[in-house]
Amino acid sequence: MEQIQATRGTRDILPDEVRYWQWLESIARNFLNKANYLEIRTPIFEQTTLFERGIGEATDVVGKEMYTFNDRGDRSITLRPEGTAGVVRSFIENKLHVGGVQRLWYTGPMFRYERPQAGRQRQFHQLGVEVLGSNDPRADVEVIAIATDILQALGLKNLHLDLNSVGDLQDRSHYRQALIDYLTPYKDELDADSQDRLSRNPLRILDSKDKRTQEIAQNAPSILDYLSEKSRTHFDKVQQLLTQLEIRYTLNPRLVRGLDYYTHTAFEIISDDLGAQATVCGGGRYDRLVQELGGPETPAVGWAMGLERLILLLQKLHNLPQLELDFYIVSRGELAENQATILAQKLRHANFSVEVDLSGSAFGKQFKRADRSGAVACLVLGDGEAANQTVNLKWLKTGEQETISQSDLFTKLDEISSKIQSQKHSKTVSSLT
Ligand code: ATP
Ligand code: MG
Repeated sequence: MEQIQATRGTRDILPDEVRYWQWLESIARNFLNKANYLEIRTPIFEQTTLFERGIGEATDVVGKEMYTFNDRGDRSITLRPEGTAGVVRSFIENKLHVGGVQRLWYTGPMFRYERPQAGRQRQFHQLGVEVLGSNDPRADVEVIAIATDILQALGLKNLHLDLNSVGDLQDRSHYRQALIDYLTPYKDELDADSQDRLSRNPLRILDSKDKRTQEIAQNAPSILDYLSEKSRTHFDKVQQLLTQLEIRYTLNPRLVRGLDYYTHTAFEIISDDLGAQATVCGGGRYDRLVQELGGPETPAVGWAMGLERLILLLQKLHNLPQLELDFYIVSRGELAENQATILAQKLRHANFSVEVDLSGSAFGKQFKRADRSGAVACLVLGDGEAANQTVNLKWLKTGEQETISQSDLFTKLDEISSKIQSQKHSKTVSSLT
């Protein structure tokens, strides 16, 4: 029979790699808790119109990348390609604005129909934050600072922050005309998508991945020259505070978000160690999105990190220790096997980690597995031990062993526990955080 494989663009995250995910998540959660961001979990699929309106039909994501299908009730459904639209829908639907400024975060799988390559998948994961209800530049800086704190705590190096302001609606309509005037003479040299965008959405041309288009865009007018005094003041404050926090950034006037509801600050964090798929975090302000989706006027700012790209970096950088097991229990014979199950349960209730060998194979083979398990101690139960209610306690790292009564094992647990801790090679994954 033909073997069924994971769908193109998806992959399994096996236990060895999951350790890295858990570590990343615990570091992120730690910083998010410290800044009092609350987790929100929204559905993985939503009505297609949410993304059409919330991301914009002129974007690649909506135009080319969505997993959209009709369900059995003939509703158009889309697997979420990003997290913000769902969070904003939930914010409006649940009237979260009455609670004042909302600081939210989320994580989970996202879906985009893209050409799979390293760091680019069809099912991938993001972790993101959204601050809803503040137009203060301090909110922009707060979210950027959280992102840089998380990335720094993960030990990532060679990252840089690109920063821009796309102003407000009016600034952009002035800039838009200047950009069209500049690009029109080059129209024939632009890539096909960009030619198409020239009248519809010229700002997005600055984002093109085409080489020649990028060259042309290099000398385009800068949006920073088109900011109103108000927008300029906002952006100055963001930069001033970033400098005071010693968060280094580079101004990149070509970093844009082409849609009307993106406003003011836009930023990306890019890794120099990732090759082509180098952006690990992207975000900015979107003061008009909540309104656009039918909610009350609510300024907002947020970002999303692509976790696969971070995991690739983390695996290169760190050798995370496996969790070290406390006890491995080896037993043979029906009575001994039953006692092993009971001992394991009692030890787990006493907060030890315990694996029971279920193979029923000869002691020799079970001992080999005990060694491979990485456990600190092994409990051995044969017919003799079972009949006498004793157990052989074998310290796998030192070879030392003793036979004690099963009841003594439990009266001596404190002593045994400290001996186990002292023989552990490494700290557990969670204690690294
Ligand atoms: P790109 O230009 O790389 O396609 P994007 O602008 O589409 O990125 P965003 O929508 O801003 O990306 O998403 C935020 C982050 O999510 C990206 O910076 C990236 O790290 C990650 N990301 C986006 N698409 C994918 C994907 N298909 N596979 C893995 N990670 C992704
Ligand atoms: Mg993309």
